[in-house]
Amino acid sequence: MSLIVCKFGGTSVGSTEKIKNVAQRILKYQEQGHQVVVVLSAMSGQTDKLLGMAADVQEIPDLREMDMLLSTGEQVTIALFAMAVKAAGSDAVSLLGDQVRIQTDAMHTKARINKIDTELIQSHLDAGKVVTIAGFQGVTLKGDITTLGRGGSDTTAVALAAALHADACEIFTDVEGVFTTDPNICNKARKIDMITYDEMLELASLGAKVLEIRSVGLAKRYRVPLHVRSTFTENEGTWVVEEDKIMESMLVSGITYNKNEARITVKKVPDQPGIASKIFLPISDAGILVDMIIQNTRESHMTDMTFTVMRNDYARTMELLKKVARDIGAESVTGDESIVKISIVGVGMRNHSGIASTMFQIMANEGINLMMISTSEIKVSCVIEEKYTELAVRALHSAFALDKDNMPTEEE
Ligand code: ASP
Ligand code: MG
Repeated sequence: MSLIVCKFGGTSVGSTEKIKNVAQRILKYQEQGHQVVVVLSAMSGQTDKLLGMAADVQEIPDLREMDMLLSTGEQVTIALFAMAVKAAGSDAVSLLGDQVRIQTDAMHTKARINKIDTELIQSHLDAGKVVTIAGFQGVTLKGDITTLGRGGSDTTAVALAAALHADACEIFTDVEGVFTTDPNICNKARKIDMITYDEMLELASLGAKVLEIRSVGLAKRYRVPLHVRSTFTENEGTWVVEEDKIMESMLVSGITYNKNEARITVKKVPDQPGIASKIFLPISDAGILVDMIIQNTRESHMTDMTFTVMRNDYARTMELLKKVARDIGAESVTGDESIVKISIVGVGMRNHSGIASTMFQIMANEGINLMMISTSEIKVSCVIEEKYTELAVRALHSAFALDKDNMPTEEE
């Protein structure tokens, strides 16, 4: 007998009708002989609604009370779901985070899980019940309710799967799985059957919003096989697994783009020790995250420093830097908000050279200028003008053989 943890997101449990459908689906799993733990999100829109109510009442809401409030959304869905299972003739029990003792630290609204007791869950499972657990919440040692941050139900599910040594964790959502790129801008995007944790981490951080990133890190650490799939079809989705489980890997598994960054250049900075820290220290002190950084040496001991920040930090960073530039004797600070970062991701890059240069060639063929480049072991990113986003993504997608019906794979 196998044990599966299934998590359903807000759109999957957005109405009582949908909750009944989820119950039917879970009963099928039970009939096939699986034990099932079901983690649920709040109904879609509910968490936002609660946040809005809090904002009406207290300008800067108290975080402990915020968690008390936000955790209610999931209480509603698990109770209704347990009723639906019973109504369909099977047995279920719903449990809140504190009942299961999902123990977290005390960082309200963004708590981290430290420990989960599995005894109670296991005893209900052994009694033949479907155990449904509220996602996104836990409890501190002192007994205060916490929440795990937006999208945190994915993390609840993976943490439970790890603690229970489940055979798999299935994340049911409103899309078919993880795609090679955004289907909204490239109609040749296709669902990926299998992908590694590392690739998924890169894709998630680059803006593929299917899985909450923390849950992927956790799945990797505890080797929990993750299956991202649709609530509304029976089709297999995308498996996120360890690298050695994948027989044939693509050179490039996915292409992402991120329009949330802006580029800033500090021109003609004296090229001497301490300059980088004089530029970046005030920025980090202000809590602003810097992504790519390039330093270029010019003639006569001058250098240009170019980097990217999140677009919503752009104005604040420019403001800060004008002062810094004066202090360090830089010539000027310029910036550009209409950029996009395009990335190709694939574990196949680890033992293949030339992937980056192929990418540059493809962009050159389209007449697209590369403003910044950065690479990691399994990723190459380029910053280009935002207006070329679609063109670049489509060109890369077909050049790296990701288009539908065109999938040669690399020999192991
Ligand atoms: N309901 C929470 C949220 O919307 C948690 C989740 O859905 O994963 O962020
Ligand atoms: Mg989600």
